[in-house]
Amino acid sequence: MNIILLGPPGAGKGTQARLLEEKRGMVQLSTGDMLREARTSGTEMGQKVAAIMDAGELVTDEIVIGLIEEKLQSADGNGFIFDGFPRTLGQADALGELLEANGQGLNAVIEMRVDDAALVARITARSTCGSCGEVYNDITKPIPADGKCENCGGTEFKRRADDNEESLKTRLMEYYKKTSPLIGYYYHAGDLKPVNGLGEIDEVAGEIDAALGG
Ligand code: AMP
Repeated sequence: MNIILLGPPGAGKGTQARLLEEKRGMVQLSTGDMLREARTSGTEMGQKVAAIMDAGELVTDEIVIGLIEEKLQSADGNGFIFDGFPRTLGQADALGELLEANGQGLNAVIEMRVDDAALVARITARSTCGSCGEVYNDITKPIPADGKCENCGGTEFKRRADDNEESLKTRLMEYYKKTSPLIGYYYHAGDLKPVNGLGEIDEVAGEIDAALGG
């Protein structure tokens, strides 16, 4: 099964993708994570995209489509969870073509609905484990009192450079201008399944499970 998690920054796509990986043995393909990795390892591409990402703008379709194409060829698993990809109509068309070329298709596009006020609150309170990427939130899921990640025991936590109000404004505008048209695109392709992204993590996971047919 191949699915897309579609929604604005802070909607909980990464958190839900990790749960789906655990529960269903699927493979999360997050272009945001891939780009951050490219930055950390200092590749030429990573250096090129750093300023764009920090400002909250989208990197070019060519770069992210290339990243996904590479992963689709090498990764193996019980289907893919596309997290943060596609983000433009060009990327959506390219994904359809790449899947078709591999004899595959899309089973569902989960649209995670969250209002903007909740997004600002979530994003400015967010941190992740430096070792495994587990996502924490100062309000809804604080770092455990012993200072150790509940998933891997790691003790270093990071805040993303683009998780501030200024970048978030740009990220939201990019979402509404370039990514939200995908809601209509996938609605008409017949794949769209809206879920309420505002609930507790387990409630949202339950809704996604139901949308995927249990
Ligand atoms: P994310 O971790 O998904 O919030 O992505 C962080 C940043 O990486 C975004 O604000 C963009 O600058 C860049 N990015 C991630 N995925 C894409 C994509 N599919 N298309 C363009 N830019 C992307």
